[in-house]
Amino acid sequence: MAIIRVTKEFRFEMAHALWNYDGPCRNVHGHSYILYVTFSGEPVNDAESSRNGMVMDFGDMKKIVRENVVARLDHALMISGFAPADSVESYRKHFGNVIVSPYQPTCENIVADIAALLGSKTPPGVSLHSIKLYETATSFAEWHASDNL
Ligand SMILES: [Zn+2]
Repeated sequence: MAIIRVTKEFRFEMAHALWNYDGPCRNVHGHSYILYVTFSGEPVNDAESSRNGMVMDFGDMKKIVRENVVARLDHALMISGFAPADSVESYRKHFGNVIVSPYQPTCENIVADIAALLGSKTPPGVSLHSIKLYETATSFAEWHASDNL
């Protein structure tokens, strides 16, 4: 049987601010993120299985990514833990759903974080192949398992 990749697209809105950055992303602002998650594996070849012919049910992909990534990030504000404690505390105090990341919240670092999260949730027999995260219509970052062996 062939190894096949299956991909599902997700969308979420999130605000962030880049600490100590010299461009417009230093200000708190939002993006409409588009996330592509790709798993790979052999389609199930068992007429008795409810997943026959599937690498992974798209409904299961939706559930895993929604619960572990989208539910956490959607309509959140992500700020770097490198920012001064008083400003972090002020955001926490005045706004709901503030995520203080242990990294600069760039598209690159967020995609790596999502890969780590989903890597531990990948069902047996399937592997996380790649993740692509669009921050704007023309800018994205990618994580590929083959780059990170
Ligand atoms: Zn930005």
